[in-house]
Amino acid sequence: MTDKRALVIDDDCEIQTLLALLLEQQGYTVRVVDGLEALAHAPELVQVELILLDFHLGEFTGIDVLQFLDEKHSQAAVILVSGCSHAVGEAALATGTRHGLRMLGLLPKPLRASMLRELIARQDHAPRPLDAGDLAEALREERLFLVYQPKLELAGGRLVGVEALVRWRDPLRGVITPDRFISLAEASRQIVPLSWQVIEQAFAQQARWQAAGHTFGLAINVAPQMLYEPGCLATFDALVERHGIPLTRIDLEITESAAIDCLSYARQRLNGLRERGCSLSMDDFGTGYSSMAQLYHLPFDQLKVDRTFVGASDRCAEARAITTTIVELGKRLKLRTVAEGIETPGQRALLEGLGCDHGQGYLFARPMPAHQLAGWLAQYHQTVF
Ligand code: C2E
Ligand code: MG
Ligand code: MG
Repeated sequence: MTDKRALVIDDDCEIQTLLALLLEQQGYTVRVVDGLEALAHAPELVQVELILLDFHLGEFTGIDVLQFLDEKHSQAAVILVSGCSHAVGEAALATGTRHGLRMLGLLPKPLRASMLRELIARQDHAPRPLDAGDLAEALREERLFLVYQPKLELAGGRLVGVEALVRWRDPLRGVITPDRFISLAEASRQIVPLSWQVIEQAFAQQARWQAAGHTFGLAINVAPQMLYEPGCLATFDALVERHGIPLTRIDLEITESAAIDCLSYARQRLNGLRERGCSLSMDDFGTGYSSMAQLYHLPFDQLKVDRTFVGASDRCAEARAITTTIVELGKRLKLRTVAEGIETPGQRALLEGLGCDHGQGYLFARPMPAHQLAGWLAQYHQTVF
């Protein structure tokens, strides 16, 4: 008997049968489904060692299934079965890797048993998906570091501040972006220690900038879970004192990625931070949990329009309508508005025309390490954005 389990996801009966046969010859117990609908009804099926995924699944594609595997935190290694061009297949592999999945490669049609064996053999070498233990080690070994993305005034182009964004340098996997580990940190209750490490590093950097005579602001992403931590404000005060920085230049961005369970408690904590001089931003507005209720109950100073809407605002009427409405809402509530993810001059012109106050995005600068920011600043003074 074997305990190796594989799942075949394909809507073509002949391919299903053939793949199941080939996998059984490799010692797998095989289950077969014909697409995303079947998986939505039995999500536990994705908890296997190996998944063979066809790219064309009727009204869904392999990309939809890759997102589903990510949402279900599947630990499976994935082989894409592909009748499409190599370029499309490679792009799908990259998408899977970005979602933190273990992508073993492409199995082109017509299928070849020898190629399948080669791909399966890669499993031993493919890095395991990140888990809570890896993150605990990264926190212990201080493998997290920060990069900074400039934020500009849209009318005039003045630099108003930078946003600190966390990265994880892993010896095996290289630099890992937060979309691959923030949800892991939340699920494994490590988001609070992670947040403190981020704040500590950001404050230390702000103290260095201050000593060098810079006066721009610093935005730090804070997970709502931190607010519930006993002693949150005392720990915060201790860090401020250690680094000797004025809080009037610190903006705390609260992400909606996790629901704020108790709004009155969160409000009390946020007021405490605000009384100390920090400003507060609601990040990624429009994509998370109960945005309107949070906006109504919590003491925000700024509203950040999520990059999903901004990034499509110059080519998609719906995204433009949502962007316009959020900027308008911010103005009515007398909040400063910030558009994130501005990539094109068209998006910038649209946002500036709407009266959005600040902007951030690849059009101006990508996130960069602190030592590169000095160079960016030098050349930025000669550029009119
Ligand atoms: P966010 O706070 O909304 O950060 C903006 C994200 O948009 C960053 O992704 C940034 O690199 C990306 N971005 C900026 N300009 C552009 C653009 O023009 N186009 C596109 N496509 N993307 C752009 P990043 O660094 O991968 O961070 C992702 C999210 O992870 C952040 O979204 C934030 O929610 C979370 N995060 C990052 N750092 C921290 C942290 O220190 N603590 C916590 N709790 N969450 C963090
Ligand atoms: Mg942010
Ligand atoms: Mg954001």
